[in-house]
Amino acid sequence: MTVFNGKGVYGAVALGKISVFKRKEATVKRYHIEDVSAEKERLAAAKEKAVAQLQEIYDKALKEVGEANAQIFEIHMMMIEDDDYNESIDNIIEKQKLNSEYAVAVTADNFAEMFASMDDAYMKARSADVKDISNRIIACLSDENAEESGGGEKVIICADDLAPSETVLLDKDKVLAFVTAFGSSNSHTAILARNMNIPAIIGVGKEFLDAVKDGMFAAVDGYTGEVFIEPDEETIARIEKKKTEDENKKRLLQELKGKENVTLDGTKINIFANIGSVANVGAVLANDAGGVGLFRSEFLYLESEDFPTEEQQFLAYKKVLESMAGKKVIIRTLDIGADKQVDYFGLEKEDNPALGYRAIRICLTRPDIFKTQLRALYRASNYGNLGIMFPMITSVSELEKIKQICSEVREELNTEGIPVSDSVELGIMIETPAAAVISDRLAPMVDFFSVGTNDLTQYTLACDRQNAAIEQFVDTHHEAILRLIELSAKNAHEHGAWIGICGELAADTSLTETFLKMGIDELSVSPTFVLKVRDAVRHIDLTK
Ligand code: PEP
Ligand code: MG
Repeated sequence: MTVFNGKGVYGAVALGKISVFKRKEATVKRYHIEDVSAEKERLAAAKEKAVAQLQEIYDKALKEVGEANAQIFEIHMMMIEDDDYNESIDNIIEKQKLNSEYAVAVTADNFAEMFASMDDAYMKARSADVKDISNRIIACLSDENAEESGGGEKVIICADDLAPSETVLLDKDKVLAFVTAFGSSNSHTAILARNMNIPAIIGVGKEFLDAVKDGMFAAVDGYTGEVFIEPDEETIARIEKKKTEDENKKRLLQELKGKENVTLDGTKINIFANIGSVANVGAVLANDAGGVGLFRSEFLYLESEDFPTEEQQFLAYKKVLESMAGKKVIIRTLDIGADKQVDYFGLEKEDNPALGYRAIRICLTRPDIFKTQLRALYRASNYGNLGIMFPMITSVSELEKIKQICSEVREELNTEGIPVSDSVELGIMIETPAAAVISDRLAPMVDFFSVGTNDLTQYTLACDRQNAAIEQFVDTHHEAILRLIELSAKNAHEHGAWIGICGELAADTSLTETFLKMGIDELSVSPTFVLKVRDAVRHIDLTK
């Protein structure tokens, strides 16, 4: 048995086989072939496999995110059958007697360049699609004889690190646990793991990746941050015992369903849930959350191959609002950039992405993107109880511009005769020290604040949330952070706004009493933490 130590970012345990996460390599070899018809058969088989994969993804997306969002995979299937595209590939194989991977890659480059040079925005966007389908075919060409690792069995995913877009695309039904060599506990990958309710350990070190292979048996303890490779019987028994204890605890928490979030002295607070996709709404309801306190809408963009259209977004937001049946749903506008990168945005590489062109900064300089999202949100507002929230605010003038654009969008919809709810609340995230410090100026302009402690911690302590090397300097309970939250709460209430916390700290029950004493009105946490926080609230006496 070998033991590796990292940092547990979701307390739970797992036992199972390892699957090492493989990133598709972009390098394609070029070599001459002898038998053209055998090569074309190999290509045909790979294309068939690619289409079957896309069909599977389409079916899954249809179920999880609806037809409008799933459509792109249908388009991809059609692109694989496109005559011009196939003629170009066949030509290279037949005339130059070169291998399929190379023929597909060259064709992809030519077509992508051709699409990119077109004026029409829709055709321009097809450039990324042709690359995507070609990469899929190339992957199928090289995987042809590879065995499916683990088959349908659930596995422990081991990786160097995972980008949010990679995590989002993993088949959640097949993941037992995450273990990454690098990564930090406030990263979006860690947040996703918590949302998925599975044990996750980060920062186990590079040696870990050298030691693990597909199919090895492992035990993961998300409480202690330990990973045991080929564990001995005693370890297996210990982890199994913890698993049973977890199940018992979960059962006890289930008894809190339907109960109020009220302290011993009668103070009520809202406990809402954070989600990243429409599919997470099931977990929100199953855990009896009072609403959605943060819908990270950027995941719609991350899951998509191209800018989601107004209609696609409208359908997604409407679905969440309808499913929540009148309960509050706070949708945060696009927070892309920094660690959440999307190719089709074409963002420049930056030296300091966390301090760079992200979130509201993109929205305010790309009103086309922002207005599309706002139109979709306001259209959806008629189907439930919507709050719109803006990320990364640092100044009054940003908020003035945002409110101006919101008014324009409402006006436009009015003129078009599209109904919009009168009771859409507008709020901002307090996730920069600047916003907290001027919260007295911002509060009169909004209905609510929601404290994003993940970024507030990063910016207050000057600790990049992606940088695992400085984890030891990240004191999430730092007095400076708590004072900024307290100040924001005071200023919110003085100006008639309410205040919640939607960063990861909201689920830290060692701070629940502190937050309630500050006057925090709402805590928004991963769906799986709702009942745990309810339990904490019900044990607090604010008079003591
Ligand atoms: C935060 O910063 O605390 C937050 C909730 O937003 P995100 O984690 O998506 O940046
Ligand atoms: Mg944030």
